[in-house]
Amino acid sequence: MMNIALFGPPGAGKGTQAKELSKYYNIPHISTGDILRYNVREGTELGLEAKVYMDKGELVPDDVLIGLIRNRLTESDCDIGYLLDGYPRTIPQADALTDILDRINKPLDAVINIEVNDEELVKRLSGRRSCACGESYHIMFNPPEKEGICNACGAKLYQRDDDREDVIRQRLAVYNEKTKPLIEYYEDADVLVNVNGADDVDAVFKAICNTMDQFK
Ligand code: ADP
Ligand code: AMP
Repeated sequence: MMNIALFGPPGAGKGTQAKELSKYYNIPHISTGDILRYNVREGTELGLEAKVYMDKGELVPDDVLIGLIRNRLTESDCDIGYLLDGYPRTIPQADALTDILDRINKPLDAVINIEVNDEELVKRLSGRRSCACGESYHIMFNPPEKEGICNACGAKLYQRDDDREDVIRQRLAVYNEKTKPLIEYYEDADVLVNVNGADDVDAVFKAICNTMDQFK
């Protein structure tokens, strides 16, 4: 059983790596951003509430996310472990996660912090193209085989509303204020592992595997 959280600022490469890691280790990829976007597309009550915050580059309120992650982690596919992507993002979310994981007896093995500088993050996010299936590409750094089309499912790629430059800046500010303190939080809990996220996708994948292999 592997119980892992991928951590890092928006654009660090969490989703890109999580997709591959989930296949490679055969554990469920739980992206709160993907779950929220699915709900926005479907027009559910959760989606309507979340969209207001997402469009502004703000975090969706903690009580919403805590309920969502509690439900997801108690689904049966998580019996063999999980790979969190984009959760937790605040101290209250991390405290709630510890509680949930204690209760289901699946404490975190590692929180993998993917480190990338702000200038590179802006470049990555402004060139990102996304697919509804959860894949993401970059027009220069990681282009799809066929322009504008998802390699994995063949659907048309789109640019996320929150990948506009002004919203990107806001998301990075929110990260620095609310999410970055979790680095110290998980350092203190002795589960933090730093990975250099500035390398290419394959090199970052290998660096993460070095850590995850210890928990196979
Ligand atoms: P996150 O899920 O952390 O917000 P993504 O995985 O969506 O980030 O990656 C953000 C953008 O950067 C995407 O366009 C992706 O294709 C690109 N990207 C991801 N990893 C790398 C990398 N190692 N080098 C260059 N570009 C990358
Ligand atoms: P992401 O796909 O991880 O970049 O998330 C996109 C957006 O979804 C964020 O900017 C937030 O508005 C919202 N979101 C995703 N995960 C969380 C979370 N754990 N807490 C609060 N908001 C979240």
